[in-house]
Amino acid sequence: MQLLKQKVLDEGIVLSNQVLKVDSFLNHQMDPVLMKEVGREFTRRFAGEAVNRVLTIESSGIAPGIMTALELEVPMIFARKQKSLTLRDDIFVEKVYSFTKQETNEITVAKKFIQPGDRVLIIDDFLANGEAAFGLARIVEQAGATVAGIGIVIEKAFQPGGRLLKEAGYRVESLVRVAALDDGKVTFADQD
Ligand code: 5GP
Repeated sequence: MQLLKQKVLDEGIVLSNQVLKVDSFLNHQMDPVLMKEVGREFTRRFAGEAVNRVLTIESSGIAPGIMTALELEVPMIFARKQKSLTLRDDIFVEKVYSFTKQETNEITVAKKFIQPGDRVLIIDDFLANGEAAFGLARIVEQAGATVAGIGIVIEKAFQPGGRLLKEAGYRVESLVRVAALDDGKVTFADQD
C-alpha cells in the first residue's frame, strides 16, 4: 500500500534494528484519513471471506480494526489486556507475550461476542513474532469460530511471525512489509 509506505518513510522513527515507532499516525496520534484507507484496503483484500466479525487487541489495533469493521459493516471486538485474572467462565483467556513490553499479558474476550460459526477477521497494527495474532486466533478457535484471515498494517518481515502464521494455515495480508531497520533506515520487502 503505497500511501502507507510513504507515511512510514516520512514519519517512521527507527528506534533500533528491531523496533519501528509510528506514533504520529498509528500508535499515539492517529491519522483517520489513512486509517480509512487501511480499512478499505483490508476490506478489498478479504472481500471473498464472508467475514462477520473483526477482532483486534487494545489499544493500537483498535483504529485499523474499527475502520475495517466500518467498511465491512460488521461488529468489531477488541481483546483486553490484563496482568492477571481470577478465573471466570464468561470470558475466553489466552496468554500473549508482548514483544514491545517484554512481559506476558492475559488477553480476554467475552464469550458472548464470538459464536460458533462466526468468520472472524483478525486485525493488528504490527506483526513481529506473531504472539498477538496467534493469541487472538486461539481465542477464535476456543469459540468454535473460524479465522477468516489476518490483516496486519505493518509486518516486520525479518521477524518470524508472518512465516509462522502462514505455516499454521492462516491467510495473512500485510499492507506494508518491512525487510530491515538497519542504520536507522526503513527498507521494504516488496517493490509494489
Ligand atoms: P508480535 O505479537 O507479533 O510479536 O508483536 C506484535 C505486537 O507487538 C503488536 O501488537 C504491536 O503492538 C507490538 N509491536 C511489535 N513490534 C513493534 C514495532 O516495531 N513497533 C511498534 N510500535 N509496535 C510493535
